[in-house]
Amino acid sequence: MPISRGEKPVNINNRRIINGADADVVQLYPMKHTFAWDAYMVGNANHWLPTEISMQKDIEQWRSKDVLTADERQAFETVLGFFTTADSIAANNVVLAFYKHITSPECRMYLLRQGFEEAIHTHAYQYIVESLGMDESKIFNMYREVDAIYNKDSFILDFNDGIFDDNFKTGTLENDQKFLENLCVFSLIMEGIFFYSSFAVMFGFQRQGKLTGSAEQIQYIMRDESQHLNFGINMINTIKKEQPEVWTKDFQNHIVDLVKKAVVLEYTFAAQVFPRGIFGMNADGFKQYIEHIADRRLESVGLPVQYGVENPFPWMSEAIDLNKEKNFFETRVTEYKTGGALEW
Ligand code: FE
Repeated sequence: MPISRGEKPVNINNRRIINGADADVVQLYPMKHTFAWDAYMVGNANHWLPTEISMQKDIEQWRSKDVLTADERQAFETVLGFFTTADSIAANNVVLAFYKHITSPECRMYLLRQGFEEAIHTHAYQYIVESLGMDESKIFNMYREVDAIYNKDSFILDFNDGIFDDNFKTGTLENDQKFLENLCVFSLIMEGIFFYSSFAVMFGFQRQGKLTGSAEQIQYIMRDESQHLNFGINMINTIKKEQPEVWTKDFQNHIVDLVKKAVVLEYTFAAQVFPRGIFGMNADGFKQYIEHIADRRLESVGLPVQYGVENPFPWMSEAIDLNKEKNFFETRVTEYKTGGALEW
């Protein structure tokens, strides 16, 4: 696109997440969506790499015949089977579907950071699989072989139809809703629901003193993912303000329906990971946990809660309560910078 010559400054009031009128996507200032800049700075302060975390104890425990039960090994493998491809799906959506439609340079700054973080997460899973000497081709192919993973991933990928099309453009009500649907599905469902029973499994291991290096990797990932989710929620709520016409009653009902479908997919996945329950967590507990976090996601964008259930895993609450997130991050960042281990 040629540069439009002129001395007239960009009018910040025309800046929008999508469909910005002064669609200057290279001029960071004047900045309007400061939440994106804040998220970018937090992401930088939270920077980490998988190779900085010791996997020695996990290697010993994985090799030992006495530490892990067959059910625990299967749960760990299935969760990794989901994780290993999930962040690549998220990264592709950011880079190939999402980025080019965003007309806010500050939001683009954060998306660049987010895309890199998704790569770090895929690296972390690769590092766990390699460290433990697991069968890479088995774990990385599970999304095509294990129904409960396949069903979640194909549910998500269905929403790329249209957005991935080279000819897709925002600017009509139909297409803006299509874009917002993609944002809701990726932020609220993929990053906000589909990761969370797997997170809970990993912290279940950690609470037993098992595979704690892997769990520490996942803690850093969850810290990043909470930021991705927060950023997505901020974008949804900003688009609602900038273009209230897209947030129709029908559209709201549609998003609620999608979240309810996702909840079923997620607890079906959890039931397959734990056919007999584990660490005091069983299928009923997971169902309730997933319903609880789904309500939080709905609330965060002003949609009605659907389940009204307590959090059955209160030890996860620190991480999922977005109000506490700032403290959560501050504690972690300090500990990380001093090289200490993450503790809940
Ligand atoms: Fe993410």
